[in-house]
Amino acid sequence: MTERCESCSKSSVCQHKEDKEKKMEKVLSLIKHKIVVLSGKGGVGKSSISANLAVWLAELGKKVGLLDVDVHGPSIPRLLNLLGVRPESGEKCLHPITWGENLKIMSIGFLLPRGDEAVIWRGPAKMGLIRQFLEDVVWGELDYLVVDCPPGTGDEAISVMQLLGKEAHALIITTPQQLSVDDVRRSIRFCEKTQNPILGIIENMSGFVCPYCKKEVEIFPTGGGEELAKERNVRFLGRIPLDPTISKTSDRGDLFVLEEDSPASKIFKEIVNKVVDIMENKVN
Ligand code: ADP
Repeated sequence: MTERCESCSKSSVCQHKEDKEKKMEKVLSLIKHKIVVLSGKGGVGKSSISANLAVWLAELGKKVGLLDVDVHGPSIPRLLNLLGVRPESGEKCLHPITWGENLKIMSIGFLLPRGDEAVIWRGPAKMGLIRQFLEDVVWGELDYLVVDCPPGTGDEAISVMQLLGKEAHALIITTPQQLSVDDVRRSIRFCEKTQNPILGIIENMSGFVCPYCKKEVEIFPTGGGEELAKERNVRFLGRIPLDPTISKTSDRGDLFVLEEDSPASKIFKEIVNKVVDIMENKVN
């Protein structure tokens, strides 16, 4: 039975809730593929990967939306050199920031008085905000929506999965250290519980390509992500090395995927090709 809101408590159905559900259905029906980027903990490169994934999909000619729901530490505005940018609002709608022809971006960071402001959000407020970001932002027709979730499997990740529904695919980011790999087990269990398919695992900061001799050096033992993927029957999408280009480009609001001679960029583009093949059913 449909839950009723206060103002509809005297009628037999809640028009507001039904209208909202219809609105969400309409918004989601215009988005072909939904990818939710998850990680067990912070600092593993989740936001960098979300931003570069969205940008490269857009460069491949796809219509893309990038939604940053990391209410406690939105980093998409910084990563895309959009600090201080404000989205325009219309009547009951918010216009995303456009980046080139094919990419639309929305982040809580665009709405805070200062991009680095700390905000204390309670659970229901977070759910409301995420719903608004999906429903009231003028996304239009999209081939891909990439959602950058905060680390962990808390309120935001649950809300995103609930709102996007069972077709949303999770992309799990880890680093080779065991602790991070343990966190991935939690992310996998989370997807099993929400019954969302897992697009795959990316092992980031895995090995280091020396910028002088171009040889690869193992800093932490690598392969944990791949082993775990095998063990849990989840796709392993690839390993991105520690690459100084990534931290340099992200500090100045550039994107490593657009750097011609970065080892990480080449590998990352191959990973994005796999993502497209999987999402568009070209491979199993
Ligand atoms: P998260 O979203 O998981 O907290 P970020 O994407 O903000 O992580 O990345 C954390 C830091 O690590 C950033 O400074 C980023 O530039 C850097 N970084 C991410 N991946 C790599 C990599 N493969 N090589 C070098 N630096 C990286």
